[in-house]
Amino acid sequence: MLRDEKAIVVFSGGQDSTTCLFWALETFKEVEVVTFNYNQRHKEEIECAKRIAEELQVKHHLLDMQLLNQLAPNALTRDDIEIKEGEDGELPSTFVPGRNLIFLSFAAVLASQVKAKHIITGVCETDFSGYPDCRDAFVKSLNVTINLSMDQQFVIHTPLMWLDKAETWKLADDLGALEFVREKTLTCYEGVIGDGCGECPACKLRRNGLEKYLEGAAAHDR
Ligand SMILES: [Zn+2]
Repeated sequence: MLRDEKAIVVFSGGQDSTTCLFWALETFKEVEVVTFNYNQRHKEEIECAKRIAEELQVKHHLLDMQLLNQLAPNALTRDDIEIKEGEDGELPSTFVPGRNLIFLSFAAVLASQVKAKHIITGVCETDFSGYPDCRDAFVKSLNVTINLSMDQQFVIHTPLMWLDKAETWKLADDLGALEFVREKTLTCYEGVIGDGCGECPACKLRRNGLEKYLEGAAAHDR
C-alpha cells in the first residue's frame, strides 16, 4: 500500500539520512528530500546533500533556516564554539534547542504543500547523545500535534530509531547502499566527506559502528 504513496525525507547528506533516503526509495512510490540551511559550520554539508539528491534523481528542497542560528548559536553553527560531548547529564555543545521540533514541523508544512503523506527522519534513540528531540516519545507526540494542527494524517517514520550505528550500516548494506553511504555521505564535524577526519566524535561513532558491522558480517561469512 505504501508503494502508492509519496514521502518527504529530512535530509542532511549524512550517513543516517542517506540510509533513510534509500529506505524511502524502497518503500514509497515517490520520494522528495528537504535540507535545512541553518548556517551549518560546513557549507560542504549542503553541497553534499545536493550532490546525493541529484545522483539519486530525487527532487531536493532547500529551506533557509538561518533564523535558528540567530536564536540558538551552537557548536554546529559557530566556529568559535568547541565541539564537546556532554558530561554528567549536560547536553553536548552540538545540541541546538528545538531543532527537530522546528525541522519536522517545517517538513510537515512542505509535505502538505507537495501532497506527501509520509515524513521520514533519521533520528535515533539508541545512539542517544542526550538530544531530547531524538526520542521516540517526542516524535510520536509531535506527529499527533502536527496532524491536529493541519487536520491531516501524516505519518512520521523513524527507520533508525532503535538501531545502533552498526545496525544502521547493516540496513544500508541490506538496501544495497553500503559503498554509496560510506563514500558519498558527510557525517564529520570537520567537513571531511566519506570516512572523515577520523578524530571528531561523529567520525569515531561512525567508524566504530562500521568496524563492528564489518567484523560481524565477516564472522557470519566464515
Ligand atoms: Zn571527523
